[in-house]
Amino acid sequence: MKELLGGKGANLAEMNLIGVPVPPGFTITTDCCTIYNQIGKDKVIELIKSQVTEAMKNVESTMKMGFGSKENPLLVSVRSGARVSMPGMMDTVLNLGMNDEAVEAIAAKSGNARFAWDSYRRFVQMYGDVVLGMKPESKEDIDPFEEIMEEVKEAKGVESDTDLDVADLKELVIKFKAAVKKVTGHDFPVDPWEQLWGAVCAVFDSWQNPRANYYRAMNQIPEEWGTAVNVQAMVFGNMGQNSATGVAFTRDAATGENIFTGEYLINAQGEDVVAGVRTPQQITKEGSLRWAVLAGVSEEERATKFPSLEEAMPSAYNDLNATQEKLETYFKDMQDLEFTIQDGKLWMLQTRNGKRTAAAMVKIAMDMVKEGRIDEKTAILRQEPNKLDELLHPVFDKKAIKAANVLAKGLPASPGAATGQIVFHADEAAKFPISILVRIETSPEDLEGMDIAKGILTAKGGMTSHAAVVARGMGKCCVSGAGDCKIDGKARTLTVKGITLKEGDWISLNGSTGEVYEGKIATIDPELSGDFGAIMELADKYRTIDVRTNAETERDCLVARKFGAQGIGLCRTEHMFFEGERLMRMREMILADDEAGRRVALAKLLPIQRQDFTDVFTAMAGLPVTVRLLDPPLHEFVPHEEANQKEMAKEMGISIEKIKQKVEDLHEFNPMLGHRGCRLGNTYPEITEMQARAIIEAAMDLKAKGIKTLPEIMIPLVGTVKELKLQEEIVRSVADIVFAERGDKIDYMVGTMIEIPRAALIADEIAEVAEFFSFGTNDLTQMTLGYSRDDAGKFLPIYLQKGILKTDPFQVLDQRGVGQLVEMGIQKGRSTKPKLKVGICGEHGGEPSSVEFCVRAGMNYVSCSPFRVPIARLAAAQAALR
Ligand code: ADP
Ligand code: MG
Ligand code: MG
Repeated sequence: MKELLGGKGANLAEMNLIGVPVPPGFTITTDCCTIYNQIGKDKVIELIKSQVTEAMKNVESTMKMGFGSKENPLLVSVRSGARVSMPGMMDTVLNLGMNDEAVEAIAAKSGNARFAWDSYRRFVQMYGDVVLGMKPESKEDIDPFEEIMEEVKEAKGVESDTDLDVADLKELVIKFKAAVKKVTGHDFPVDPWEQLWGAVCAVFDSWQNPRANYYRAMNQIPEEWGTAVNVQAMVFGNMGQNSATGVAFTRDAATGENIFTGEYLINAQGEDVVAGVRTPQQITKEGSLRWAVLAGVSEEERATKFPSLEEAMPSAYNDLNATQEKLETYFKDMQDLEFTIQDGKLWMLQTRNGKRTAAAMVKIAMDMVKEGRIDEKTAILRQEPNKLDELLHPVFDKKAIKAANVLAKGLPASPGAATGQIVFHADEAAKFPISILVRIETSPEDLEGMDIAKGILTAKGGMTSHAAVVARGMGKCCVSGAGDCKIDGKARTLTVKGITLKEGDWISLNGSTGEVYEGKIATIDPELSGDFGAIMELADKYRTIDVRTNAETERDCLVARKFGAQGIGLCRTEHMFFEGERLMRMREMILADDEAGRRVALAKLLPIQRQDFTDVFTAMAGLPVTVRLLDPPLHEFVPHEEANQKEMAKEMGISIEKIKQKVEDLHEFNPMLGHRGCRLGNTYPEITEMQARAIIEAAMDLKAKGIKTLPEIMIPLVGTVKELKLQEEIVRSVADIVFAERGDKIDYMVGTMIEIPRAALIADEIAEVAEFFSFGTNDLTQMTLGYSRDDAGKFLPIYLQKGILKTDPFQVLDQRGVGQLVEMGIQKGRSTKPKLKVGICGEHGGEPSSVEFCVRAGMNYVSCSPFRVPIARLAAAQAALR
């Protein structure tokens, strides 16, 4: 029903069916909106005119009023309503049908001229804004109606709209209409039917307004859906002291607690409550008492000026409370309600499943399972996996953040909140106990400093910049591309908004919003609350594939295991080389002129690597660990800035010329398609030998201590069988040598990444050698689409905006294209080895829709960064249940 009637229309109809009081009305379907967009206004009106007239007759007879009647005029609201709720994104017009004659009739019939004229002035204002296009484009521009309103209030010396009397309201109507004439050049339409069609088409048009477009893009709502239009008899919350309007939640949308909450205003209409026209009052007495404490309002003032609905209109409150229970029981989920009380009688105007925080999402689902309202499967399916992210990172203290000064806004590159003292160089990150690394952009050499810092701020770079990707992997707060920040690394200053911060000054980052704050703001660590844990356990009960993590440090391993990781799907050995002494040895190897020279350096690296693997294997305590052999192009290990080259020359006791020469040698036009992956191991087999030895020796050392290990050695970037075969032979012969040396053995596997399209195409051959496949979907995406991941930032945003792409293929797996290669790879691989173990280790392994795809494709596991493990667990369970 929602597809045709929209969420609002469908739920209005449903409420009516279960006996909840709803003003009568009818819904023009979403189809009409689509047709409207194709054939235009006049033809659509012609098409639906007779049905609308018919439907209006029904409303008229139910209400015993006439639309356009001079004696007993019916007023209606014209409301938008898409399939899924898009709160406040589209338009609504209230009090439609009002004109100079109707207002007199309504005044006479109700005996309340103030109410009649208040409704009239509201109508002219809303119709002018919404239908006649008088609403200013931006918030800064002046709304002509608001300006007039302010003038009239000022002349009268009152603050609240409720203090205006009939004469004032009449004056407002006249001035509002004059403003319409001035701006549009036309008289305000007096004919109710003309008003109605104007409003209906305006609602259709609002589907295409920039706000709605943006919201759809953000939430991946297809443009084709269109909005329905609900035409409904008006009920009036502005009829005096015994009337009111309000919004409510059946449970607390922030905490999930099972308490009825909400706000209302007496003698008000429509969005007054949310628009901040006056201070809204609380619905329940309990809520009102809590509010008074927070707002610093005395009990006396609260009880007289801001009483709760429970106190002010007890009978209407009881009806509302009974209705909210009824609706929650019926819809089996927390409801977000809109209601109006007309002269003491309650009317419901909307109900929908309420938006909520992640904490509330988890708590409400678990509570409803315990209350027997929903079953476990429903509870799992109702979670939004990505939302869990909110629960996995530190957040700012709510009070502290209110007082904070926003310095700049960048991209929300990696979520969480961080506060610390500024450092401008990665190798100085440890200068302060809690530091924030502030850079123009980061590079692989900064890794250690990034790890030490609490948060990272960069002036340049997008969502897939080095800083952003690495920070997300570490689960570290990062704001990237904060372009307003002028960073001077030499002078060690950050200048923004005329403020200059120095090294050691405090700064705070919100990686979930991209906001940068001045000063120190208290943060609160994430709490893996009971309900969160419980939902995860449920997910594990239903999911059918494993969830592993991408990790290479002991700390990441421990975090991932805490979040439920069942092994490592990708241990990137190069990440182990980027810091301190290791980086030096690595550079020594790169600088060597021949194999002998490289072997000398590699011999020094061996014990370091062995220790790395010992740490990782120990932390993973017997769970499988997939270790990828060296993958990136070697130039990533040498400095490109002159200052750093000088430093390196000094450290290594060689001339800067030699270093420059080497850097030049390593230069590649397209390094991601250059000398990297197994091409390194096939040209410098001694590197593979060293890495294989380090892995096997670490495993043997641990075995000797009684600790189990399960190494899976993974050869990257394979495109031909021979490439894999030669590497496999090296690994196996090294293993045999170590076994012979130690007189013992361990189990290990040799497999490969499928990340070059050709590997997917010849996966049946590859599987003759490989014992497992891991789909490296970052590279596979890059090579299948031909988009360089490092350069895509220049065109991807525009592609997304223009709809050339629906989603960023580096974040959401391109199932239609890349997905075919994955499916083919699995199918061909298993045609050779039916039991072939298959997983994914690209960024997609933690993205819910991609995880679902992996489950359907028959993978054995997905692997993702530690902080996405719970998200993947949940997404995997949902995939199994769908
Ligand atoms: P949105 O989708 O932005 O929430 P709505 O269509 O729900 O817009 O309308 C906003 C508000 O207008 C409602 O919350 C309600 O207070 C008021 N409203 C809508 N229709 C009526 C009606 N028939 N009678 C009284 N008030 C109405
Ligand atoms: Mg609404
Ligand atoms: Mg790769």
